[in-house]
Amino acid sequence: MFAKKKVIKPFEKKVYLSSPTMHGDELKYMKEAFETNWMSTIGENINEVESIAAAEAGVKYAVALCNCTSALHLCCKVAGEKLYGKPAIGHGALEGKRVFCSDMTFDATVNPVVYEGGIPVFIDTDYASWNMDPIALEKAFELYPDVKLVVFAELYGFPGRVDLIKKICEEHGALLIEDAAEAMGATLNGKKCGSFGDFGAISYNGNKIITGSSGGCLLTDDIEVANAIRKWSTQARENAPWYQHKELGYNYRMSNVIAGVIRGQYPFLEQHITQKKAIYERYKEGLKGLPIQMNPIIDNTKPNYWLSALVVEKEYMCKQVRGDLKVSYVPEKGKTCPTEILDAISSINAEGRPIWKPMHMQPIYKESEFVGREGFVKHNGITDATKKMVDIGADIFNRGCCLPSDNKMTIEEQDRIIEAIRGCFE
Ligand SMILES: *Cc1c(COP(=O)(O)O)cnc(C)c1O
Repeated sequence: MFAKKKVIKPFEKKVYLSSPTMHGDELKYMKEAFETNWMSTIGENINEVESIAAAEAGVKYAVALCNCTSALHLCCKVAGEKLYGKPAIGHGALEGKRVFCSDMTFDATVNPVVYEGGIPVFIDTDYASWNMDPIALEKAFELYPDVKLVVFAELYGFPGRVDLIKKICEEHGALLIEDAAEAMGATLNGKKCGSFGDFGAISYNGNKIITGSSGGCLLTDDIEVANAIRKWSTQARENAPWYQHKELGYNYRMSNVIAGVIRGQYPFLEQHITQKKAIYERYKEGLKGLPIQMNPIIDNTKPNYWLSALVVEKEYMCKQVRGDLKVSYVPEKGKTCPTEILDAISSINAEGRPIWKPMHMQPIYKESEFVGREGFVKHNGITDATKKMVDIGADIFNRGCCLPSDNKMTIEEQDRIIEAIRGCFE
């Protein structure tokens, strides 16, 4: 079989996709929590994180939670209750209701809709932004004018047209949840990601642009929402001399120790963005001339460049077959595919990753509907064969991958990764 011969020396120390970068003050604030004995879900660090996160995102209120998934869950719950009223015990706030959702994203964007009993309808991606396609969303509202909730996620820190998405939502009287887990610090028209939705969520997961090891915030301009979320996230206790409960509670509050880490990280958000931007630009320069395209940057946006990614141009794709759990490909001269590129990257002890496998392709959501610009691509569990061609999410997934984007990666390391990628096209 044909094989490419380039051999590059592997790194002694693994180059990660995106790993935590600590600076020092994180430990100081954690220690403060320890020394003052606020080893709890109450404390100075949490209060600070809430005020910093709100100011940074340009919203009035941030509620500190144990992760972004729980923030998205409470976004769905509060949106559902606003739209449809409080559910009876044993029922979700979105029960039986369709919700339009980003398709090419992490499943944590979408699962919370299901926690609340909602039925996700996936909206295709556009090539221009690699985010939810506003035209496909319009189409979805033509098909289902009664839908009242949209969940939009920014991909890899490169904003899409969340401004248009919000406008479309307003035209249809729908609420918008913005999952800005990957896009903290990024802007569109000078406005921060996470501040476009009626409710927003950000993440401090270990591989995000800044981290607390875990953690998240729910963002809102509505003080009543902020108060409700704070109450729900701490077991929904009423103000009474005993444990009195009128509402369903959750144990979703952020720890004051974790908040110390996040507090110490925030001053370095801009620095991390600058480093990630340099990584993206070095890939762009180093991969010049190859038949690839990197994450698109649309007008009037400032990405946070969290993960650099590429797609291989169609005519330069070798044969690649993906099953549910396994993949194979046939190496070919002058052509390549994400699997070969990811193999080349891991062969030198670096870490890449496929593009998020679109939700409409996931076994768990195989019955779900999927809408593109031309209307239903998948309906009643059946894929419209004539529209397979316009399944943009599947195409980007098939041809794309994320590149090592760790902000501690040296220029020399990145040069070797670039060399390995170039070798795949020989
Ligand atoms: C990381 C991520 C989440 C989940 O964040 P956690 O803090 O780990 O719960 C949600 N949505 C997207 C798009 C993400 O990338």
